[in-house]
Amino acid sequence: MSTTDVPPSQGYINSRGLAPYAASDRTSRGRRYPEPPPSYRGEFQRDRDRIIHCAAFRRLEYKTQVFVNHEGDLFRTRLTHSIEVAQIARSVARALGLNEDLTETISLAHDLGHTPFGHAGQDALNGCMKEFGGFEHNLQSLRVVDVLEERYAEFPGLNLTFESREGILKHCSVAKARELGELGQRFLERRQPSLEAQLVNLADEIAYNHHDIDDGLRSQLLTVEQLREVALFARHHDRVRGRYPELTVRRVVYETLRRMINEVVGDLITSSQNRLDQAGVRSIDDVRNDDQPLVGYSDDIRADSLALKQFLRRHLYAHERVRRVSEQAASTITDLFDTFMRDPGQLPPQFRDKAPDRATRTDRARVVADYIAGMTDRYAYREHARLGLAQA
Ligand code: MG
Repeated sequence: MSTTDVPPSQGYINSRGLAPYAASDRTSRGRRYPEPPPSYRGEFQRDRDRIIHCAAFRRLEYKTQVFVNHEGDLFRTRLTHSIEVAQIARSVARALGLNEDLTETISLAHDLGHTPFGHAGQDALNGCMKEFGGFEHNLQSLRVVDVLEERYAEFPGLNLTFESREGILKHCSVAKARELGELGQRFLERRQPSLEAQLVNLADEIAYNHHDIDDGLRSQLLTVEQLREVALFARHHDRVRGRYPELTVRRVVYETLRRMINEVVGDLITSSQNRLDQAGVRSIDDVRNDDQPLVGYSDDIRADSLALKQFLRRHLYAHERVRRVSEQAASTITDLFDTFMRDPGQLPPQFRDKAPDRATRTDRARVVADYIAGMTDRYAYREHARLGLAQA
């Protein structure tokens, strides 16, 4: 199943300026349900547009990464995070001649399957689903675009291209990979996805490493003195303070962060370009057949980035205040799950219909997990209160 080329006379610019190893409409493995080609957009542009119009995308506005959504209006949400990922990833894609539309699609879709309350929510839901096949946000993102978004007359889900779905599914267990057919194949064969998918993976990390510093300082969970343990931060912080001794603390931090992102992104571009040149890849299939990713940092920046990640894990994600909120979030998720399993009559009608009385417990659990995973932070608290469940 392949998609059709759109003649250049229609102003189609997607296939211009692409490196031979970039994803393109021409080499796309197509959609699960074949559709006529779009008349004035590229295939990946159409995917991106479908993401933007889906409900799960709008809900990202009220879901968090580290902080609970209503703690403050200035913190990142999953929506602003996804936009930052898209910004970083597109810059790199353009510099490397990769497909910007596909890169943007994967960026905007990469967190669609996240539960409310960030990682605490995901871990709690996974715990609830243990005997029913587990819960993994990455697989859930795929489930959102393949099944849960019901918006089109002709097919279930958003019917995205293979390349967008391949990029959304970052990782996956062997058992799950077997169930996924063509899409799961690379996990069984230990092969790579497109360069665009590899890139979004790293852009995700660059975005959260840097914005979590910003949010961490703003919330006063982190201090500048602590951050100076991190070599990448300290060296840019020194340079900025040396050059602008009069600048306010806040502007010094922003200027430092901006320079850090610049260095990491610049390194990602040059290191990836070198690797691509050396590997001699000539097509997206060459990229997929490799057993190593080709998009990556130099050794020095990889070490810097790892040190930053470890610092954040130690001082921010494991911070007493974050932990306390996370525990409350986890018990909210567990209470909701137990209640809906016991009394599916409490589910809203569209979910209740999918879990009739004759459904097995496993099928019911999946419906309940889909419902809970789709909730925003505040909606989960509201449901918890509506069901008369006492807050831990
Ligand atoms: Mg992310």
